[in-house]
Amino acid sequence: MTKKRKSGGRSGGGRGRSELVQCTNCGMLVPRDKVKRVTSRFSLVDPALARELRASGSYLARPSTFKNYCVSCAVHFGLSKVRARNERRRTN
Ligand SMILES: [Zn+2]
Repeated sequence: MTKKRKSGGRSGGGRGRSELVQCTNCGMLVPRDKVKRVTSRFSLVDPALARELRASGSYLARPSTFKNYCVSCAVHFGLSKVRARNERRRTN
């Protein structure tokens, strides 16, 4: 059978079925290997104070938060784009 995408629209592989996670935006249940995962870091202290503390040589933790987006939401937010037919088989 012909395949639309080399990866079948998923990352990883050789894993079989993967567990479901919820889309951050719409709440749809999506397999973990199919979501678009976005990592963002945020500062716990405000930038001016952070600069001062860093100058004095202190370590500032910057926790990261993850957001999982389903394919529809990822396309809606411009995180991934619809690709031309001949370009779809390229994986990244
Ligand atoms: Zn969604």
